[in-house]
Amino acid sequence: MKRIVSWILTAVILVCCAGCTPESGGTEEPDSGIAMLVAEQISNGAVCALDTLQTAREEYEKEVEACSPLGNAGELEGRIAVFTIFASGSDYSWDFSMQEDLDQRAKCLKDLSEALAYLADQTARYGKNVEFLYDWEEDPGLAAEYSAKHPMANTAASKEIAYGLATPRQLKETYGADGVIYLFIVNTDYENTKKSHANSYEPGKAGGEATLPDLIEYVKINLRYSYDSERRDAQSSTYAHEILHLFGVPDLYEAGTLITQEYADHMQAVMSTAYYPDIMYGVVTGWSVRNHMFSEVDAYYAGLTDTCADVEKYGLGKSQHIETDQD
Ligand SMILES: [Zn+2]
Repeated sequence: MKRIVSWILTAVILVCCAGCTPESGGTEEPDSGIAMLVAEQISNGAVCALDTLQTAREEYEKEVEACSPLGNAGELEGRIAVFTIFASGSDYSWDFSMQEDLDQRAKCLKDLSEALAYLADQTARYGKNVEFLYDWEEDPGLAAEYSAKHPMANTAASKEIAYGLATPRQLKETYGADGVIYLFIVNTDYENTKKSHANSYEPGKAGGEATLPDLIEYVKINLRYSYDSERRDAQSSTYAHEILHLFGVPDLYEAGTLITQEYADHMQAVMSTAYYPDIMYGVVTGWSVRNHMFSEVDAYYAGLTDTCADVEKYGLGKSQHIETDQD
């Protein structure tokens, strides 16, 4: 018997996300990547700094040319390294000498594991294979702690986090990965009102292009927050929803650059009688990611299929993966 779904108005959390677009800001010159390579090569005993500069510039330009317009997350296919950062700030912090925080970290791994298994299963349904490298208990190199002096729940992770811990290039090389994503986990309490979100930034460059080698595409998981006076916890569906943003899948509960208002209204009507909510529409407190639908629209924007009836019917925006194929 079909479940009565009054939850749509009461229990669904519309997970708010900034989407995966480069942030502006930062003051360093675009060539900082070259400067770093030069410094590295000189320190490695290169004979001549000028030769090294030329070589480094050429190498850097090659890397830029080789970069996918999809950024370092790339396709939802192949081997993807997930680098997790337990981020402490002036607002919230981690202390792994305390059992409570150790338990919370274990729950994070369980939720992340469920989310990634779900995504791998959806990918397999479309004949593609994805392998996520994420288990920091098996490989401690896949996670790190970081402490900043600024608040962490509301602030985009700063560029020195990535440079100081692991750059996308380092992770690709170390793990033979096709793609790299970052996962910041902030140990917020229920006073926090900032939801988990997804975004990207390019270290060392003032705004703009999303094609350079050091683009960091990240999910920020704020573990607890209050929404409409109700307490919410991050759960496996939260991780899956946010990670899908990094691969180009938009929210389906509101109009955006890809989603029309007509389609958002259509989704609201459909979801109000659906048994399971779409993973990109909303998550339900206490429900596993397994209780969420992965629709053809989700698959289309994740690059798993090139055709989608709803995209044509409702005139939705083109998947970034298709644009890449045509370039
Ligand atoms: Zn979202």
